[in-house]
Amino acid sequence: MTSTAAAPASPTPQEAWDEMRAGNIRFVEGAPRHPRQDVERRHEIAGSQTPRAALFGCSDSRLAAEIIFDEGLGDLFVIRNAGQVISDSVVGSLEYAVAVLNVPLIVVLAHDACGAVRAAIDSTGIDAPPLPPLIWRQISPIVPAVRRVLRAGADAGVTPETVDPEVVGREHLRDTVGQLLHASELISTAVAEGRLAIIGANYRLGEGAAEASIILGDVHDDAAS
Ligand SMILES: [Zn+2]
Repeated sequence: MTSTAAAPASPTPQEAWDEMRAGNIRFVEGAPRHPRQDVERRHEIAGSQTPRAALFGCSDSRLAAEIIFDEGLGDLFVIRNAGQVISDSVVGSLEYAVAVLNVPLIVVLAHDACGAVRAAIDSTGIDAPPLPPLIWRQISPIVPAVRRVLRAGADAGVTPETVDPEVVGREHLRDTVGQLLHASELISTAVAEGRLAIIGANYRLGEGAAEASIILGDVHDDAAS
């Protein structure tokens, strides 16, 4: 594994996203560089971290952040839980990334075939068995997205058995970004002042591609333009 020079400090939101997007394209194409993962890099950053972005995503084992964006040690400040559900712990960690580590970008990462989304859908079925309480507490914030999609499809006869989980997942991703802005004045102010951008992205397990679907702040996505 070859050492790659550290990326320049203090990227703009655009530079941070361009770098992650380029890394994801390398991963999709099967040509990752595995940058900044060697002993030299480990020593270089042992004293302090200056991550270039924060990532809040689902815990799914197939969503390994540094691998799918072809990043290295010290590049990403990562928070993950099942179904990427907002909590005080998540918001506090993201505020730390923004206020103390000065990251210019938060990527909120959802994915297709998400087990947490599936569980939230199944929980709305008639005769759905109760979930263990803490698992229920984790996935219940996804249920409003399920109910909205079910309501929208009611006339077409959409049921918990037939609803498209990817539509629910995209709706939940929108909810998650909205809740983050609502929960954190620190973060919403940083976005308003142009110091921070937030990208909501959907990852496709088969293709390995992370596609931006929600973009807030001073950043654009070349794939979407
Ligand atoms: Zn998931």
